[in-house]
Amino acid sequence: MAMTSILVVEDEESLATLLVYNLGKEGFDVRIAGDGEEALLRVEEHSPDLIVLDWMLPKVSGIEVCRRLRSKNETRNIPVIMLTARAEETDRIRGLETGADDYMVKPFSMNELAARIRAVLRRIRPGLADDTVTFGDITLDRAAHRVRRGDGEVHLGPTEFRLLDHMIQHPGRVFSREQLLNAVWGSDVFVEARTVDVHIGRLRKALNRHGDINPIRTVRSAGYALELSA
Ligand code: CA
Repeated sequence: MAMTSILVVEDEESLATLLVYNLGKEGFDVRIAGDGEEALLRVEEHSPDLIVLDWMLPKVSGIEVCRRLRSKNETRNIPVIMLTARAEETDRIRGLETGADDYMVKPFSMNELAARIRAVLRRIRPGLADDTVTFGDITLDRAAHRVRRGDGEVHLGPTEFRLLDHMIQHPGRVFSREQLLNAVWGSDVFVEARTVDVHIGRLRKALNRHGDINPIRTVRSAGYALELSA
């Protein structure tokens, strides 16, 4: 499974840079388009998992981009979060009527945007919100807070559970310690990078008790990946 890709369409360069940086830190693969026309071209080249779309754009407006995306079968289902400086209720309604899935008024916090993105993705790709996720012989049950590997139950502490839950959503992807820290502990908590190694060690040990293939690969000086290559 590939990283979740987000196309940011924003003509204000400083905001675009900030979005690329912050969403990248959240673990998204971020691409950028500076106007509406470029946005439509980008989508044609590579269909993103979600679009963060500014309302006021040169050439083709955000509303128009959204309308065109919704009018084509191939792009109809791409979730869109609109950004706007306008706070008026009528604009908000217009944005949602055009087919935006959510709406953020500038200025907004990056954390809130990331949270909205995840919420929209969960709604649209329910696989991410499924109670049970399976990867190889590993099954993680969010509702029951249980993990199994093959026939054996894997006992995990809460941190190890969250680590596995995060990694199992992107099998094969290499996460840096910092990305894991942000995802599992939160970016506002100070935790040493070494702490990640300790919890990964525990997670690995618990998983290996019920299987012979070590599912967590250590990537030297890069981080960790969940992989089941024999
Ligand atoms: Ca703009």
